[in-house]
Amino acid sequence: MLNAAEHIPIVRAAGSKLYDENGNSFIDAISSWWTNLHGHAHPYIAKAISEQVAELDHVLFAGFTHPGAIELAERILKLLPENQTKAFYSDNGSTAVEVALKMSIQFWRNKGLRKNRILAFENAYHGDTFGSMSVSGRGAFNRPFNDQLFEVDYIPIPREDREHISLLAMQDLLTKRKEEYACFIFEPLVQGAAGMNMYQGEPLSQLISVCRINNVLTIADEVMTGFGRTGDLFAVDSLSQKPDMICLSKGITGGIMPLGLTTCSENIYEAFLSQDLSKTFFHGHSYTANPIACRAALASLDLLLDPVCTQNRNFINQKHLAFKQTLQDTGTIENVRVTGTILAFELSGEEATGYFNSRRNYIYEYFLDKGILLRPLGNVVYIMPPYSITGPELDEIYSAILKLASSPIAKSNIYS
Ligand code: PMP
Repeated sequence: MLNAAEHIPIVRAAGSKLYDENGNSFIDAISSWWTNLHGHAHPYIAKAISEQVAELDHVLFAGFTHPGAIELAERILKLLPENQTKAFYSDNGSTAVEVALKMSIQFWRNKGLRKNRILAFENAYHGDTFGSMSVSGRGAFNRPFNDQLFEVDYIPIPREDREHISLLAMQDLLTKRKEEYACFIFEPLVQGAAGMNMYQGEPLSQLISVCRINNVLTIADEVMTGFGRTGDLFAVDSLSQKPDMICLSKGITGGIMPLGLTTCSENIYEAFLSQDLSKTFFHGHSYTANPIACRAALASLDLLLDPVCTQNRNFINQKHLAFKQTLQDTGTIENVRVTGTILAFELSGEEATGYFNSRRNYIYEYFLDKGILLRPLGNVVYIMPPYSITGPELDEIYSAILKLASSPIAKSNIYS
């Protein structure tokens, strides 16, 4: 953009802090786009990676395998709901979603059925490739490509007190187009890029259950919510009905290396198990299951499963909940919400809430100026810190937010 601010040249990172070439530091309050779990340049993960690269850097993942990929799949499957029995590697969140979409359409094909329609939540965000853009809500992110995107039917998320609307919308579509839907994809508990929209697990379980009765596969996109962000290890842990497939990425490696993983239930796997070549799932990225990324993920899992990490996540959650009370009292902030380690709220005002709200740039620069990286989604401000963040660092972020809440910008729409 001609009017874009200068990029900030980061040369070093440690713990929750990023350091630029001019000696400035920034608290990474959004875990570098929701990836980092245990703090930057964590020595335990760094050591694991350096040992791995000296032993096995990369090998194609077709006809070959390696110990890291096997161990990681086995360990993650043990942590996921019991119905998840197989794992398919790729290399980022969008591809983890592409894999799930392709698997569900081909699942029905392999069974001799043409089920091509897909259900998704309004305003969803599932990635930047064509399939993942298609199942995302239509808007500025994908407008130039709308003609190329495949058709998707949307239902609203089951917000508090509006759960029945979502359920009725799904039932209506499933009745009108019986047997046409291949799958329903959703971000469980928190819709990220849409503006940290939060909702409860039980109404989602109801939707999953309706899908199951109607032979529609369900895909939980846990690319953002996975690995502890929402409190439990995975957002689906809080559901009474489990999805057929789960997409993982971002925090899978502790936020150090790119890696994608799509897991599925045994019956999906079985639909591909055949001597007939046409039933093969033809999907293989060059860097599928990169051994260094797998090793980083194994090291990150060790840290995630350490009781210290659970304590840290609870600590963040408790601090967020206490701060929520304080924030609500300011009067200039709306809709303060907390799920696990994520806190979000909106600056109130006449202008509609959304990514292109004119106060976005002001808010972003306001925090940068205070040494805090908080990249708002328009007028939606959120904190999603690494679990290693300290109490004083959180207090520094909270205090900057309170100053913003009492400043004129919080009460007006004059800046752009
Ligand atoms: N799904 C969700 C829920 C996401 O939040 C994102 C990225 N923000 C993606 C998929 C895409 O992941 P990636 O950027 O790694 O392609």
